[in-house]
Amino acid sequence: MFSATVVRSVRLAPSFQRVTVAGADLADFEWRGFDHWFRLFLPPAPGAPLVLPRVSGRSWWKPYLAIAEHERPHCSNYTVAALRRTAEGGAEMDIDVVLHHDSEGAIAGGVAIWASTATAGSPLAMLDQGPLFDPPADTRAVHLVTDESGLPAVRGILRDLSADAAGTAIIEVPSPGDVEELTRPADVDVTWIVRHDQTAVPGAAALAAVQTSVAAVGRVDPLDYAFVVGESTLATEGRRAVHRAGLPKSRILFSGFWKHEGH
Ligand SMILES: Cc1cc2nc3c(=O)[nH]c(=O)nc-3n(C[C@H](O)[C@H](O)[C@H](O)COP(=O)(O)OP(=O)(O)OC[C@H]3O[C@@H](n4cnc5c(N)ncnc54)[C@H](O)[C@@H]3O)c2cc1C
Repeated sequence: MFSATVVRSVRLAPSFQRVTVAGADLADFEWRGFDHWFRLFLPPAPGAPLVLPRVSGRSWWKPYLAIAEHERPHCSNYTVAALRRTAEGGAEMDIDVVLHHDSEGAIAGGVAIWASTATAGSPLAMLDQGPLFDPPADTRAVHLVTDESGLPAVRGILRDLSADAAGTAIIEVPSPGDVEELTRPADVDVTWIVRHDQTAVPGAAALAAVQTSVAAVGRVDPLDYAFVVGESTLATEGRRAVHRAGLPKSRILFSGFWKHEGH
């Protein structure tokens, strides 16, 4: 468990808030790049103390549930957007948080509210989990698919792939202002999809794009590797589409990063 405090929080794009956190502890965080993720623990309310579960080995869930409900920290999963060593011997980490909204247009979700209101010095903690992206050594091409929740992960993967990697990336975002220039290998084609209908289920347009593209090519090379994350239907149906097109399940990493409430 790594302790840190908020340094600053800035609006990165219409749908993203970048929270930068720092702490002496973070100097020991062994960032492996790509989509390296962690469990983020926040106080249950602004100004409340941060009571943390005792972690032993991989076990943290039972001790977490054992914390009295009114003291139990908010816990959610996030990607390391960047990690920088500081001159003082510590480290700074960026966390890019999607600002999602309820039906009245107010920012919803414990982390999204925290990110948009976080003040310097407020405490948090992180439990390191490592990357999910793990293509076999014989991988020919990679196919990355996500909605906005997996943009930090896909951005990290594209940044850290070897320069001769080939493949495709389909990235759905809510707003044209969320589209960004990505550092990537020259042979990875990136398709951005902007969700013009704000009432549409996030990820549905990316899923349609995957289904259309596998239908167009007919067959995916069984030595490719796919990484399909985001809203849970995008993850499960996206995996189904690439598997039906010939990619073995063992070469598809899929993960429902969150669940749309209408499902
Ligand atoms: C490995 C991994 C890495 C992740 N990395 C990131 C990351 O770097 N940045 C990031 O923003 N998210 C990331 N996520 C997704 C994030 O964990 C979820 O979106 C989480 O639910 C957000 O927590 P919250 O406290 O804001 O909302 P919650 O309290 O969990 O949910 C409150 C409400 O908001 C809805 N909701 C949650 N997320 C979204 C969303 N993205 N869009 C619309 N509605 C939503 C829920 O359906 C629910 O109705 C990652 C998930 C995983 C598994």
